Amino acid sequence: MEKFEVNKDACIGCGACMAICPEVFEINDEGLATTIKDENLTKEEIENATDAMEGCPTGAISKEEK
Ligand code: SF4
Repeated sequence: MEKFEVNKDACIGCGACMAICPEVFEINDEGLATTIKDENLTKEEIENATDAMEGCPTGAISKEEK
């Protein structure tokens, strides 16, 4: 099962990930991205979150296989 994580030290809060995949990524009160869903992701959510990961300008998102 895939799980996505945001490295808060690398995130610049641009919001691109949330724009691409709001099911998984949200900008929190600190203005940084955070994952709001990391279990039981649908195939579509995994595809969109992977697109968001590849589109992140700072490479702050990583994917882990559990
Ligand atoms: S796309 Fe990357 S830098 Fe932009 S908010 Fe998301 S994790 Fe942060």
